[in-house]
Amino acid sequence: MKYFKPDIILDRVFDLNVEKLKKNRIKGVIFDIDNTLAYNAEPEPDEKVTAFLKALQKEGFQIALVSNNNKMRVTTYNQNLKLPHIYRACKPLKFKLSKIIKAFGIERKEACMVGDQLFTDIWGGKRMGMFTVLVKPFDDNEERFIRFKRKVEHFFLR
Ligand SMILES: [Mg+2]
Repeated sequence: MKYFKPDIILDRVFDLNVEKLKKNRIKGVIFDIDNTLAYNAEPEPDEKVTAFLKALQKEGFQIALVSNNNKMRVTTYNQNLKLPHIYRACKPLKFKLSKIIKAFGIERKEACMVGDQLFTDIWGGKRMGMFTVLVKPFDDNEERFIRFKRKVEHFFLR
C-alpha cells in the first residue's frame, strides 16, 4: 500500500513548496499535464503555469512533462514551454519515466513526480523510488462526476 501513498498532497500545483523539495534533495521535477497543470480542454499553458514552471527552473530544478496522453496533446501544450517531454508515457510503467531521469543525469530519489492520479502518477513514481506529489484534480466535470459517484456510494452504503 505504500506505493499509493504520496509524500505530499496539494490542492493546487502552485502550492508546491520549493524549500520542501530542496530539503528532500530533489533536483528534477516531472509534471503530468492533464488535471495537474492544465484543465483537460486547455490546449496551451496559461501565464500562471508558464511563470510557475520558469520560476522552478530559476531555482535550479530540471523540469519535464510526462503524460499518458497522445503526441498532439503533449507537443501542443509544450510548444512554447519547450521542455523535455514524453507522450504516451504508459505510467505507471517505469521505462519512460526512467528515460527522463537518465536524461536529467540524476538519481531516481532526486526526482519528483507531480500528478493527479494515484494509479498512474503516484504509483509510477513510487515504484521508481521517486518523491511523489499528488495534486487534487480540479477539472469541474471530473469533480462533478466524483461527487456523483460519492452519492451513489453513500446510497449503497446505507
Ligand atoms: Mg492527469
